[in-house]
Amino acid sequence: MKAVALVSAGTVKVLEDRPEPSCGPGDVIVAVRGVGLCGSDLAVVGGRRPVPAFPWILGHEAFGVVLAAGRDVTDRRPGQRVVIEPNYPCLSCGPCRSGATAGCPDRRAAGITEPGLLAERVAVPAPFAWPVPESWDEADVICVEPLTVALNAVRMSGLGPGDDCLVLGAGSQGLLVVLAVLHAGGRPFVADPHGGRRDLALRLGARDAADAGPEASFPVVVETSGVPEAFEEAVRRTASGGALIVVGQSTRPARVPTFTLVQRRMTVRGCLIYDHPAGFARTIATLGVHDLRPGRVLRERFDLAQAPQAFARASAVAGKTWIGLPRTEEMSA
Ligand SMILES: [Zn+2]
Ligand SMILES: [Zn+2]
Repeated sequence: MKAVALVSAGTVKVLEDRPEPSCGPGDVIVAVRGVGLCGSDLAVVGGRRPVPAFPWILGHEAFGVVLAAGRDVTDRRPGQRVVIEPNYPCLSCGPCRSGATAGCPDRRAAGITEPGLLAERVAVPAPFAWPVPESWDEADVICVEPLTVALNAVRMSGLGPGDDCLVLGAGSQGLLVVLAVLHAGGRPFVADPHGGRRDLALRLGARDAADAGPEASFPVVVETSGVPEAFEEAVRRTASGGALIVVGQSTRPARVPTFTLVQRRMTVRGCLIYDHPAGFARTIATLGVHDLRPGRVLRERFDLAQAPQAFARASAVAGKTWIGLPRTEEMSA
């Protein structure tokens, strides 16, 4: 079968002859239909997040159709449309038992510590293949995983109806945070040096942070860019008693005066993905009743054969890039 792999630092290739995944007793085999790309995929391709081996199968924001279920799986069946939660915590350590599975030291992450999901077929632990209605637009289904991160960030911030929120970075994660802020009844203001990304955020309902003035401060700030200078700006612009939620990450240090942190009594919290099963359960329930349409952040679609171009372009374009796979596997199943 075909899969898209990083074959050496910076080089993405479509491999034609990968072995079929094997279905463990608790797994399902999913025929992948689409995979969204995000900053962490680009960090892997760019070598900023080292991978365990080459070739390394990429991708983690995937949805598809169940082809087969392992012998112990009773609640998933072939033909079901599923979106994949690509972080598999151990579910038995202290953090996992307390519900904080994002903090699991043994968490396996597809595309990062485990082979990724950008392949024609993948094996997934059944509880991490979440059924979603056929009626949902595939663009919305593609965005379930990064939207879960965005909803978690906004929830952590304590943002309430009517609150202003500065969103730094209007990459795909920042755009989804804009939607999550609007969903919570807040007013998102966006800042991004990339004009196209900023325009897309404005079309989704954000205001331009420049209109609030260069020194305006906000009760909630969400930093999504991962650029240390943006974190420094985020600290400067968090209001007294406010909350700064950090989603973007970098190993390069930022410089912030502790004077500002203390005098403003601000809360700074890192938002690492989401917890299992609460995160995906909430997102899917939310999409079932609210007209969020997160698929509005998608822009460029590529076929599997064009995956190298998709990765090459993803960091330059506004909106989320994704790769669509043909439907042949499930027809033959
Ligand atoms: Zn992602
Ligand atoms: Zn654990």
